[in-house]
Amino acid sequence: MEVVTYSLRNGQFNSNQYYEDAAAFTEEVLKEAKVLLPIVGRFRAYVEQTGIEAVRSAEEYAFELLMLGTLWRIYADDAHDISSGWTGIMAYLSRLRQRNQTLKPVADGVRGILATIFLAPTDREWSPKASLKHLDQLLRWMEATGDHVQEVKRLHNWREYWETVPARQVSEDIQAAVAFAGRFEESSLKALGKYTPNVEQFLQEKQREHRWKEDVVFSARRRVEYHLNMVGAEIMNRSFRADFLQTKHKAVILPACMRYYSKPKCQAHSNGLSCECTGCEPKCRVNMLMKLGQKHGFSVHLVPHESSVFSGDAGKTLIGEGVGIVGIACVSNLVSGGWKAKGLGMPPQCVLLDHCGCRKHWHEQGIPTDINFNRLMQIMGVKSTETIEQAGKVPAAVPT
Ligand code: SF4
Repeated sequence: MEVVTYSLRNGQFNSNQYYEDAAAFTEEVLKEAKVLLPIVGRFRAYVEQTGIEAVRSAEEYAFELLMLGTLWRIYADDAHDISSGWTGIMAYLSRLRQRNQTLKPVADGVRGILATIFLAPTDREWSPKASLKHLDQLLRWMEATGDHVQEVKRLHNWREYWETVPARQVSEDIQAAVAFAGRFEESSLKALGKYTPNVEQFLQEKQREHRWKEDVVFSARRRVEYHLNMVGAEIMNRSFRADFLQTKHKAVILPACMRYYSKPKCQAHSNGLSCECTGCEPKCRVNMLMKLGQKHGFSVHLVPHESSVFSGDAGKTLIGEGVGIVGIACVSNLVSGGWKAKGLGMPPQCVLLDHCGCRKHWHEQGIPTDINFNRLMQIMGVKSTETIEQAGKVPAAVPT
């Protein structure tokens, strides 16, 4: 199978080993993250005192610092160069495309041009000084990309906290996050690098085809960002597990790239928010998951884009309130999708696509994507070994 950027199978029949490796590495990261606990403790105390958000787990806050450190190392130099006027215009266009489907193509066209000129990352051996001013620049840059809405929301609360402490403390805290992220980059390459073998090659050979397109920044994600999201997915699954298990109804959200055939050969009927699979192809993963859902009592929704579920009241209309969500997405989209679902009162869990392959971002013809059925069944709490064994024997999807 062609690997575009990452593959959780690493040449194996399934991705079971990946999930073991990701869990073990996450343990290691959380152990190492103890150096960040004093910062996390001060921030938690601030959150408790001010009530700016519901207090979350120390692991989640440590992950946010790791995320900040990683994004700082990659993008703080790019953010330093751009004026707040341009980032403001791009952030506005990004909100416009979310709200207005009619204007989306126009907004995306303009965003593609502006993002290529102003936001496309460059790799310099330089980072701005750790300060509130440069954090603001980074947050504006992230907002302008439109790819980091949830991340910005969380880092804004950290920014609010850092405004209340001396500048020296802010600098020390951010430096600690950046140093931790540097160590993470090295260790993640050893632990998870075998699952992201083609990211560098994609960046060198294919990414230039995304110039002037709306996804010029999204498609340029660095290898360490894949590893960051892999660990983030593990941490989020642990943090939200108890709430998810308490929900009465559970729903799986599938991306359109899992279909065996793309349109018009795929016979699914669109009802605006989602697509109803007609079961035209027995080998289609969507069809198989629909059947598993009927058997084990969870609903399955094929959605053209995550915004169909996570914008306004769409999720409540399509799925219902207080439903536990299992989001299935490629590595780069998972963590923000989980935060969005949580924000809408739908306790999330996530399963990674074993590889990416959608036509929009990754492959000219599109490669049907796939997941680890065992992993999904474990997350659903399905104990039937029969189902898990059967699922484990499902052959790999064949590209069309
Ligand atoms: S089985 Fe369903 S999702 Fe798959 S190609 Fe057919 S209609 Fe589309």
